Amino acid sequence: MITDEILAKYEMTIGVECHVQLATKTKLFSGVDNDARDKEPNSVVSPIDYALPGMLPVLNRRAVDLAIKAGKALGSKVANISRFDRKHYFYPDLPKGYQTTQMYQPIILSGTVEVPLEDGSTTNVRIHHAHLEEDAGKLSHHGDYSLVDLNRAGTPLIEIVSEPDMHSATEAKAYAAELYRLMTFAGVTYGDLYHGNMRFDVNVSVALKGADKLGIRTETKNLNSFRSVERAVEYEFRRQVELVEKGERIIQETRGWDEAKQKTTSQRSKENAQDYRYMPDADIPPIILSDQEIAEIQADMPKLPGEWRNILSSLDLSYQAVETLLDAENEFRGKIEFLNTIKSIIDDGDYEKAKFIANWQINILIPMLRDEAFVFGKVNHLELEATIYELVKSEKLSSTNAKQLFKDLISADSLPNIEKFAEDKGYIQVSDEGAMVAIIDEVLNDPISVKAVADFKSGNEKVIGFLVGQVMKKSGGKANPGLAQKLLKERM
Ligand code: MN
Repeated sequence: MITDEILAKYEMTIGVECHVQLATKTKLFSGVDNDARDKEPNSVVSPIDYALPGMLPVLNRRAVDLAIKAGKALGSKVANISRFDRKHYFYPDLPKGYQTTQMYQPIILSGTVEVPLEDGSTTNVRIHHAHLEEDAGKLSHHGDYSLVDLNRAGTPLIEIVSEPDMHSATEAKAYAAELYRLMTFAGVTYGDLYHGNMRFDVNVSVALKGADKLGIRTETKNLNSFRSVERAVEYEFRRQVELVEKGERIIQETRGWDEAKQKTTSQRSKENAQDYRYMPDADIPPIILSDQEIAEIQADMPKLPGEWRNILSSLDLSYQAVETLLDAENEFRGKIEFLNTIKSIIDDGDYEKAKFIANWQINILIPMLRDEAFVFGKVNHLELEATIYELVKSEKLSSTNAKQLFKDLISADSLPNIEKFAEDKGYIQVSDEGAMVAIIDEVLNDPISVKAVADFKSGNEKVIGFLVGQVMKKSGGKANPGLAQKLLKERM
């Protein structure tokens, strides 16, 4: 039985390799469609992807540009010269008998990613390198036979290799999530996790705390969610500690993740680099990039998550709030913008308004958008939010009525005069002191209030709730309750 006490004696060390599918129109070395999601098997495959004799690959320049952008997102230097190599192995989904990849001179050199953690702190994960490579095809197994689909063969990938800088499942998960944000914000990938656009391999080893040597590591491959990264690391830690405690040996091997059973299972013992007989690929010329060319491509990039966190930091939002905005920006990209709308108000210097609208988007708009039954109209959500902010600030709208007003109008095709609309709907609350005093005097003179007034005057302040209730009733729900309370106290 492995107790928490036993686990506490060990430290785990984690490195992550991540394959990112690049958002190109065509494959890495051929001109056929890179999007095979809804295609018949083996329908988007060229002679190059089939590796027919005599085929000659031509490098997709767009993939190089995206790698250059990825380099910036990873805080890494982009190499002025990089090359392709052949990695040999036999597998039915790899007709060439080798994968075209970069072993000796990758396009992205070392760098650092700052990973925000839930407790508000950050941890740095160093990037060892990242390289360009092609994907293999896909096998599907059906009882006693298997089928091969080469649609994915030749899809451009970058593989991002981290240093073993992580020491908990939480850190590994946070790193995976941050890579996702970096690659999607940089426009490097569409980030469709369901279709495997980003796949994580986690290398995990355990050693007694304070030991001067790392343990033997295992690699759990092809995790396609942040949650499975976290679970697989937790599982491997426990499994390896158990083996070590029993005095057994940990085998260097490749393992798979069984989502249904929530456990890792052995697949094959791990090859060493020499088993692949790497050699330079003679068919593809080296990629030669000048500093100026790299700088120009990197200058033309959208803001990255770190820049957005800096901008939003002036609003003093929680970690969760900021990440909700970043994730929603990704989720609704091309449909609706959040971050730029908030930034435009910050740029005007109105932090109070910016914070109100950020919170409105986080707490009201984003949950509505995620509701499948919700239909988003054609209105400018920022215009509606800004007007609601003004009405709430001037106490013309209670928070309950503000939400109702938003619901009424967000699905509309165009915005009416918002204040007039709210007035016609009876949402505007009476905050005019003159009008309120008249109602309050009426309430105070009503026989129903005699006891409450007497109680209040003898020091029982709680009865004010009853009197505010009466004011709300008389005003048809339109009185501003805060103002009613204040005026009631004054008049008594
Ligand atoms: Mn790879």
